[in-house]
Amino acid sequence: MTRPPDSLNSGYQRFRSKLLEKDMELFESLSDIQSPETMVITCADSRIDPNLIFNAAPGELFVIRNVANIIPSYEISCASSHCTLAALEYAVKILHVRRILVLGHSNCGGVAAALAIGKGQNIEENIVKWVDNLKPACKTVVDVDASQTKLEKISIQQSLNNLKVYPFVEKAILNSKLSLHGAWFNIEKANLHWIA
Ligand SMILES: [Zn+2]
Repeated sequence: MTRPPDSLNSGYQRFRSKLLEKDMELFESLSDIQSPETMVITCADSRIDPNLIFNAAPGELFVIRNVANIIPSYEISCASSHCTLAALEYAVKILHVRRILVLGHSNCGGVAAALAIGKGQNIEENIVKWVDNLKPACKTVVDVDASQTKLEKISIQQSLNNLKVYPFVEKAILNSKLSLHGAWFNIEKANLHWIA
């Protein structure tokens, strides 16, 4: 058997040693079913942890992560982003989450890549393809010499706008079964700014 990495294994041992009886009861209660009320779409960045920020327990947040917390347009998702589409469909149509939060953050590498591409810099091929989804957001800020923070916040709004036209999302909103929200997390200050 492959030896587990020491850093991960020591963390796992600490996790196990801290488990209380109520924690075990929680895990047991979750073993067959999940019923989270909130879906969080956030960045793959290691500094962003929705469970930590919202003090959420296992089972509370249904999380999808990608570079720069992007929700592509519905047309692009159907054509090439099935991962995002599958997670969204599962959350909205099967789990019936009550709210979706798009959570962006400061100093986002994905947003920085989008800005760098706009300045003609060389970026890895697949990152270029993915952050191309931010083009509409980039266009709205190009005339005002956008700061990275500004684009991070506008891209959150773009993801929310894209979400609204996914047919099953639109239907759930119309039926008052779902609400959409956006927030930006300042890593340095560890504080949250609500955008929508
Ligand atoms: Zn990021």
